[in-house]
Amino acid sequence: MKCRKCSREAVIFQQYSGLHLCERHFTINFEARAKRAIRKHQWIQPGDRIAVAMSGGKDSSALLYFLTSQFGARRDVEFFAICIDEGIAGYRDPAVAERIAASRGVPFYTVSFADAYGLTVDEIVERRGDAVSCSYCGVLRRHLLNRIARELGATKIALGFNLDDDAQSVLMNVLRGDLDRLVRPTAPVEGLVPRIRPFRVLPEREVALYAHLHLSGFEEEGCPYSHNALRADVRTMLNDYNYRHPATKFALVRLGEELANLGGSIASSLHACEECGEPCTDVCRACQILREFEGK
Ligand SMILES: [Zn+2]
Ligand SMILES: [Zn+2]
Repeated sequence: MKCRKCSREAVIFQQYSGLHLCERHFTINFEARAKRAIRKHQWIQPGDRIAVAMSGGKDSSALLYFLTSQFGARRDVEFFAICIDEGIAGYRDPAVAERIAASRGVPFYTVSFADAYGLTVDEIVERRGDAVSCSYCGVLRRHLLNRIARELGATKIALGFNLDDDAQSVLMNVLRGDLDRLVRPTAPVEGLVPRIRPFRVLPEREVALYAHLHLSGFEEEGCPYSHNALRADVRTMLNDYNYRHPATKFALVRLGEELANLGGSIASSLHACEECGEPCTDVCRACQILREFEGK
């Protein structure tokens, strides 16, 4: 098939827009949509110092590439990369993220669960199995990322979540009946570095294509411990449904956004944890998890 905008060979067909696009016109289309999301949410403002959360995988690597290529020349915005090393032998290697950060000319910082918590995900799996390790890892990673980003003076944390990730999360929360998570506050909270997700409007396969077109050397594998049964089911179901109704994922993300806007009043219920000082609800999940593994 030929590109709709020129006569070159198309590299992608966007089912929801009906467009076949070549490499060049796909890249223009992709970047325009991410920039539109940034403008709409005012995610990048003069004076911002933005920490890009880098795993070294395709989403976060593509995000760093996108941000530095589109905004890197601005003198009033700074970028740097943070890689959290969860301690997963044979999988997480901060050197992968470090090389990509170096290729984009941004400062790179890495911090490990082992140094920050004296605990690795390998140890969590060894003691608790891999059924809970994903949620424990997620809590501890967010906790550490927020602290390190704040200590490094970040005004925003940029996350590589794509449309599929976000649509799946919204649907999972619906299926679990988890209203709290659906109306999670977006209002600013003391000590919590605001998160931005420029790729939440872009389908996973387009982020993957963008990464492959513009970068090399990123981590292609998923985490060996991640077998979240609910997410896998929701992913299959959503992809199947979305094939027949191509606007579905966009609709779910929009629903999630609108529900989160209703939740602004919950923000005041966050307070500083007595143990670690990070913003948390009644019980600090990170401290709770760390207590479980004390004196291991
Ligand atoms: Zn074209
Ligand atoms: Zn705490």
